[in-house]
Amino acid sequence: MKFHVLTIFPDFFRGPFEHGVIQRAREKGLIEIQIHDLRDWTYDRHRTVDDRPFGGGEGMLLKAAPIFESVESIWPAKRAGQKVVLLSAQGRKFDQALAREYSKLDELLLICGRYEGVDERVAQHLADDEVSIGDYVLSGGELPAAVVVDTVARLIDGVLGNEMSAVAESFENGLLDCPQWTRPAEFRGWKVPEVLIGGNHEQIRRWRLEAAREKTARHRPDLLKRD
Ligand code: SAM
Repeated sequence: MKFHVLTIFPDFFRGPFEHGVIQRAREKGLIEIQIHDLRDWTYDRHRTVDDRPFGGGEGMLLKAAPIFESVESIWPAKRAGQKVVLLSAQGRKFDQALAREYSKLDELLLICGRYEGVDERVAQHLADDEVSIGDYVLSGGELPAAVVVDTVARLIDGVLGNEMSAVAESFENGLLDCPQWTRPAEFRGWKVPEVLIGGNHEQIRRWRLEAAREKTARHRPDLLKRD
């Protein structure tokens, strides 16, 4: 799968995409990530990407023209299997189900807003989806874009070494993942639950399911109420 990220801070992604699972997936050719500098689609000396909002108000907005032109030059003819996503605090909430939907695409293009946001014509006439990573406001769409790429990439076949690991994780069965421990079996007097040391796989499976239910009820009762 190919990811495109449109940003005014291309260097921002040096860290997030150059470690661990994502880096290995890139090396194996399972995913490709192209970072595009929005300022490459400006024509003035100052490479201006922003302007004041109509009607007044604080701050600046990213202009529509460079964003439309960059997307149209990345995909001169958009095909099925390609989606444009605008990262926005006003968007629909990103979750594991949406990540799974995106993982079936051929290409995903993520637009990172900055300043006070983005000219609304991008949401209305260019983006397929407007997506928020949570109910809080960040300074830009770069962290959200990294969150979306990371979450989607780990659902692509072959990206996680063990094919089962994504299936057993939080949100996949309407539950959070169960709590887990590693060695030593006792640390500062806190012991690992006996059943996990016993080696009875059926008992462990049942204990983990119950522990996942209990943790979900405690931290995210909303997940249990969904059908
Ligand atoms: N004025 C906007 C509002 O109140 O909805 C916030 C703009 S924010 C300072 C600048 C950019 O950060 C946004 O255009 C968006 O790309 C990104 N951003 C901020 N919070 C986000 C969130 N929760 N999810 C996704 N993107 C977000």
